[in-house]
Amino acid sequence: MTGIGYDVHRFAEHRPLVLGGVTIPHSHGLEGHSDADVLCHAIADAVLGAMGLPDIGYYFPPGDPACKDICSLRILEKCRDLAEANNLLIVNVDSTLVAEAPKVLPHRDAMRTNIAAALGIRPERVGIKATTNETMGFIGRKEGIAAMAVAQVESKDRPV
Ligand SMILES: [Zn+2]
Repeated sequence: MTGIGYDVHRFAEHRPLVLGGVTIPHSHGLEGHSDADVLCHAIADAVLGAMGLPDIGYYFPPGDPACKDICSLRILEKCRDLAEANNLLIVNVDSTLVAEAPKVLPHRDAMRTNIAAALGIRPERVGIKATTNETMGFIGRKEGIAAMAVAQVESKDRPV
């Protein structure tokens, strides 16, 4: 079973930029109730979608004080727990970050390690790619960062 996820967050001043659980030096961070880790959020929605479950907002309501500034790797850990509870295996995830700046690829291995550990899968099963928006649109104007992801899960009983 396959799932898709998409997320976008606006840049904000005086916030750390956290992507894939890695704090990346940059002039701006991302606005959000949690740590605004757009990459983790897109991956979480892809995994939840693949499992046929409701989206991230169902499990982590945006206004919930318990979610304030939480590390989004916890959200991926929740996905792993839900997979376990539903007797499902997360096969792999693949993702693309869309940002004009900063350069994120130097942090790819660290992001991969964090995401893989949170999902309980091998780092080789976590794809992270990055591209710019060729200076077009809101991403091109450096107003924010978007991320998209796909995930595959299979039943532990009856692989499909
Ligand atoms: Zn988000």
